[in-house]
Amino acid sequence: MALDLVLLGPPGSGKGTQAARLTDKYRLPAIATGDILRAEVEAGTPLGQRIRSYLDRGELVPDQLVVDIIRQRLSQPDTEAGFILDGFPRTLPQAQALDAMLAELQRPLDAVLYLETDRQSLLDRLGQRHRQDDRADIADHRIDVFLEQTAPLIGYYRDEGKLRLIDGAQPTEAVAAAIDDVIRPLVGAAQARNPRPTSS
Ligand code: ADP
Repeated sequence: MALDLVLLGPPGSGKGTQAARLTDKYRLPAIATGDILRAEVEAGTPLGQRIRSYLDRGELVPDQLVVDIIRQRLSQPDTEAGFILDGFPRTLPQAQALDAMLAELQRPLDAVLYLETDRQSLLDRLGQRHRQDDRADIADHRIDVFLEQTAPLIGYYRDEGKLRLIDGAQPTEAVAAAIDDVIRPLVGAAQARNPRPTSS
């Protein structure tokens, strides 16, 4: 089975939480560009220092940088069984680069789950986290960046017929259940395309 998913949603919409749950349930690697970027910052490399200047301001890092990260990550064998992208793509050029990469691998995305969440719920949730870029003014700016640079992906994936709307303002368990409802038929289709070998 290969199930290729994108979790799309503003900061605080629960992408990371839901990605972790999907990883447990379906044994798919979750690939979170934010985590990868923060690890680079922690490593204190020159690249990390450059990345930090974007993260601290709540701005997106340049497309080329994250596209290269994703290209490398998707070339690793654990993604053959599928993957969950959390926080990528975040701009139209990133989405186009991803489509091109996956076309080359002949494995188009199965679905893009959009965790639609109102601004107040986002700010409430981000206010409970303790990441440096969750400070109120930066969090607020990150939501604006989402609306300007990432929200256009909603139309992009709707046009591709990939978009699935999930009400991300619900409690975690209800969001999880809504995601499962969307994914169940996809898992069935993926298994039919690529059945696991049986021992008999
Ligand atoms: P959240 O979804 O809560 O904003 P993330 O960990 O996904 O948290 O992202 C944190 C920061 O990492 C973003 O504000 C941005 O600076 C950077 N980042 C993550 N993913 C991308 C991406 N695909 N393109 C550009 N910048 C990114």
